[in-house]
Amino acid sequence: MKSFDLRQFRVITLEDVENAVRAGAKELLVQSRAILTPSAKDAITAKGLSIKGGSCDVCASTGGGCVSCSGSSASSSAPTASEWDKILNSPEAEKIKEEIVAVGKKLWMRQYVDGNGGNISYRIAENAVICTPTLTSKADLKTTDMCLVDLDGKQLAGSAARTSEILLHLEIYKAVPEAKSCVHCHPAHATAYAITGRVPITCVIPEFEVFIGKVALSPYETPGTKKFAETVIPYVKKHNTVLLANHGIICWADTVTHAEWFVEVTDTYCWTLMLANQLGSPITHITPEKNDDLLELKKKLGLPDARHDITDLQECALCDLPEFPGGIAVVPNPISGGPAIGGSGGASGSDVDAIVKSVTDAVMAALGSK
Ligand SMILES: [Zn+2]
Repeated sequence: MKSFDLRQFRVITLEDVENAVRAGAKELLVQSRAILTPSAKDAITAKGLSIKGGSCDVCASTGGGCVSCSGSSASSSAPTASEWDKILNSPEAEKIKEEIVAVGKKLWMRQYVDGNGGNISYRIAENAVICTPTLTSKADLKTTDMCLVDLDGKQLAGSAARTSEILLHLEIYKAVPEAKSCVHCHPAHATAYAITGRVPITCVIPEFEVFIGKVALSPYETPGTKKFAETVIPYVKKHNTVLLANHGIICWADTVTHAEWFVEVTDTYCWTLMLANQLGSPITHITPEKNDDLLELKKKLGLPDARHDITDLQECALCDLPEFPGGIAVVPNPISGGPAIGGSGGASGSDVDAIVKSVTDAVMAALGSK
């Protein structure tokens, strides 16, 4: 088997793997605790390459390249500044930085950020996160502004100073292994809920049920502090969206673009509920049975929802959010049967089926394009 020696590198990028492939390698020799960037890992899997490394004193594995504990140990042989620079300037980091710049513009154009507010991050390796700098409008971001920090918030690379709110993102990365990107901002409608101590009701709009569902509300703490960052810990495993009391919102996802989508879906939903509330008529709800279809779809897509753990959805107490009684919309009158969608007086079952199908198609298309 033809081997390609990458043992001189602590950080292995896609470019290194491609060089090995071009040289006809079937096996990569790597040093123990080498850091492989996500694209490098993907390329290794796609090309069917095997990895051979020295025994790792962290996990005691031998010959496996020890991808799983890459960079996660505080060892005396931690990567050097130039090795972290290599990560921040790798081809995949450049793509991520461009995505962050594009998402920053979207946040600003949708008026989700003002002044230098909001921040965006992406976890590029086990213990390395790319993030936006402090004191910069999200409309004016440049790829060269981006910073690289470890999971304790220590800046590893980048000339600009990191955002002071990165600690909030880092608590999410530590708590949720699936979280690859976080977007934090101050969209007016979602923030209106956050300053009144309310979360939006559920079981109303299919897109919101599938992408977001139950939103959490974390207690107020001074922004930028460790104590503030830790307020989200109890919620983030089962919620991809958390309203931050008297502050704004944070969403996590598998990509930067998807995390920004979740902000959009939540803010538009909050806005829609406010408008509907002004009409004065009760809001119609999707029936528990039909909402169960959406939750099943959500489960298949691997999206978190606190309601996945509830086995009996027959009683639609879910819409009332009992722990947050301030839900703004009116719940249908149970005595009259209510104007629930799929129930008597509401939209027909086939209408709801059509809605569920269109949401399914949109979600599948979105996932196929990432
Ligand atoms: Zn903020």
